[in-house]
Amino acid sequence: MSHSKIYLSSPHMGGTEQNYVNEAFETNWIAPLGPNVEGFEKDLENYLGAETHVAALSSGTAAIHLALILLGVERGDEVICQSMTFSASANPIVYQGATPIFVDSEPETWNICPNHLEEAIKDRIAKGKKPKAIIAVHLYGMPYKVEEIKNISEKYEIPIVEDSAEALGSSFKGQKCGTFGDISILSFNGNKIITTSGGGALVSRNLKHKEKAIFLATQARDAAPHYQHSEIGYNYRLSNISAGIGRGQMEVIDDHVVLRRKMNDFYRNIFQKTIGVELFTEPTAEYFSNHWLSCILIDKRICGFSSEEIRLAMNENNIECRPLWKPMHLQPIFKNTPYYGEKVSENLFKIGLCLPSGSNLKNEEKVKINDVLIRFIDN
Ligand SMILES: *Cc1c(COP(=O)(O)O)cnc(C)c1O
Repeated sequence: MSHSKIYLSSPHMGGTEQNYVNEAFETNWIAPLGPNVEGFEKDLENYLGAETHVAALSSGTAAIHLALILLGVERGDEVICQSMTFSASANPIVYQGATPIFVDSEPETWNICPNHLEEAIKDRIAKGKKPKAIIAVHLYGMPYKVEEIKNISEKYEIPIVEDSAEALGSSFKGQKCGTFGDISILSFNGNKIITTSGGGALVSRNLKHKEKAIFLATQARDAAPHYQHSEIGYNYRLSNISAGIGRGQMEVIDDHVVLRRKMNDFYRNIFQKTIGVELFTEPTAEYFSNHWLSCILIDKRICGFSSEEIRLAMNENNIECRPLWKPMHLQPIFKNTPYYGEKVSENLFKIGLCLPSGSNLKNEEKVKINDVLIRFIDN
């Protein structure tokens, strides 16, 4: 039996990645541009469908930053953001000198609550500032309430930045996540469902968004033989080496989705008879989650143990588990930031736990996870 650590989500190479990387070496495309970058963008455009245009970037965070710039977010503006998320969803608001306005989750998808979203918009408008954008996130691969959020966005004419960093391969009513925002973003960090070691993408149906994103991501050079700039630029383009990894990963994305969803079934089996432990699943058949991470909610009053107690028991056996994302309105960096909602996300954070969910977990590792969990539950 392996004694090495079992991680929540680790990189899973399909096998052909190295060929694309070798090709980059052989042709000396060792730069943040080249055939792999363009090929990877095409692969993503074909995969997402819906007439999308993709700009490959150095990270998901960079993609959110550029999305906000493209939507005209400037110093002093306000941007609404789902509170329960990774800090990378919200930090770019601050990079722009704007203020985040955080909104609670609803309990079905754990994502931005339509009611509190509308309440926040009305109140911000009443206070004198209409928010410039809404950042909505598909947490753990679960699509947010796509139609409700879209309706509110249209009613108040505020564009959506769809943070699909965790949801490549998920869909709502058969349409892929990453195609619902005015601008959408993806991440290919090492822990995501596919990885380029580090990377991200900006997605839009508007070709101008792609072109402007690439312009800004390559230092905003004007069309001139010398270096001429009339806008502030960034160094946010994806390396041709990394994009090569991405091309190989796109060949196995569908397999990864199947395997992550199998991990969800694996945990359903384990917790099926444990009253007080609830596995996070799609609220209706319209939702299709890639189950990037499988998560549980634990009601100690019913089952007698807490999420922290499971986490510690797993940790003792060298198995990584983690609490859910800590809501942004509870983070020290956002202490004095406006928040609309109740305690849904706060409660999820208190009682939730993420379980090892990699598409590359070996059989012996699953046996070990199963044994540790069953032993813990039975005690
Ligand atoms: C990973 C992640 C990001 C950031 O992506 P990076 O590529 O790591 O910069 C943004 N939002 C969410 C919800 C994420 O999980």
